[in-house]
Amino acid sequence: MLKQFLPKEHFKSVLDISPQALKARGIKGIITDLDNTLVEWDRPSATPQLVKWFEEIKRNNILVTIVSNNNEERVKAFADPLGIPFIYQARKPLVRAFKQALLQMGIKKEEAVVIGDQLLTDVLGGNRSGFHTILVVPVAQTDGLATKFNRFVERRIMNWFRKKGMLQWED
Ligand SMILES: [Mg+2]
Repeated sequence: MLKQFLPKEHFKSVLDISPQALKARGIKGIITDLDNTLVEWDRPSATPQLVKWFEEIKRNNILVTIVSNNNEERVKAFADPLGIPFIYQARKPLVRAFKQALLQMGIKKEEAVVIGDQLLTDVLGGNRSGFHTILVVPVAQTDGLATKFNRFVERRIMNWFRKKGMLQWED
């Protein structure tokens, strides 16, 4: 049952995910979380490095949809300047928003990856919906209030994975 929380891949940062490598694997779309995945949960807009990464993604003809559990104001203010479509109040790990993102991008599940920093929302939701899931280390060590309890549960799941040798972080 805990396998549902296991990501297919993990990276230190989204910036370490190579757009060329995704393209080479036949990936046509990215469904990504926002808070603590792309930037710190309390940073309003993208960093210059992230803007460059998105440009590289675009150059490789890969679509992006931001799927966030956060509110419209936060997600829109971040996504609009980048010209990236978004779904707010996504209620991850429920599958509805993931399916909606796929539909909007007009691609198949096999052509998409789900990226996020949380096992209980991003990875669980992505796995449940049958996506290739990629976990990244949270950009900030702190979290919004809603995430704090999730992190507590997540640490226990992570420890279990580590013990089983299923997940190795560098740090
Ligand atoms: Mg997050």
